[in-house]
Amino acid sequence: MNGFDIEIHYSEKAKGTTLEVWPGNVVKVIAPVGATESELQKLVSQKTKWIIEKQRIIKDIPAWREREFVSGESFPILGREYRLKVIEGFGETVQKDDRLIVPVAQIDLEEEDKAELVKLSLMRWYRAEALFRINARVETYCEKLNINAQSVSIKDYEARWGSCTPSGDLIFNWQILSLPREYFDYVIAHEVCHLMELNHSKEFYRLLNSSGFDNDEIGTRLKYYRNIFVLADSGEGQ
Ligand SMILES: [Zn+2]
Repeated sequence: MNGFDIEIHYSEKAKGTTLEVWPGNVVKVIAPVGATESELQKLVSQKTKWIIEKQRIIKDIPAWREREFVSGESFPILGREYRLKVIEGFGETVQKDDRLIVPVAQIDLEEEDKAELVKLSLMRWYRAEALFRINARVETYCEKLNINAQSVSIKDYEARWGSCTPSGDLIFNWQILSLPREYFDYVIAHEVCHLMELNHSKEFYRLLNSSGFDNDEIGTRLKYYRNIFVLADSGEGQ
């Protein structure tokens, strides 16, 4: 109906029903156990206007999909798609033109085992590339505000893009490398601004503004992006 798919999730913990609009024309309905389908359908139809407005905001955000780590698959880096090529060989993943070339020593492994090796190699590449590019951008935004970070590091985050500690350490989710470039820049500028204002006050947004982000639209839309690599020990992708 209305150009979206409804996914109903029953939850023991849910007190009321909540709706979430996700990229790929999906509306997630989180409902308490016992809610009937017709009740939920009715609720969704009452909220149609709100759903359509949310869909408009996120319309060009790609739907999340599970990666298979096979040749021909595409991976995003700062808004561009790179094609994966798995070859027989030794060494680490390299990026060449619009390709990510991943050598695997034993090409005749079971598909699943091979995919795991490709994933690990690719993740090592993303981490190193992310740290390199993050450092360069932190420097740029720090110069703009005439401030220094105590340290810059990357981390496996499940559900956040970055953070700033009271002592001035900036920590980033390395998977921001898969975001479009302006989102990548936004995350970095946002955390650098926290070096001066460790809150989301008016003053914080004034600083963000002076770094070139004149409103918080990217901040809002960023909530609809997810990690492209599901981390091994996380509950993601269920
Ligand atoms: Zn913040």
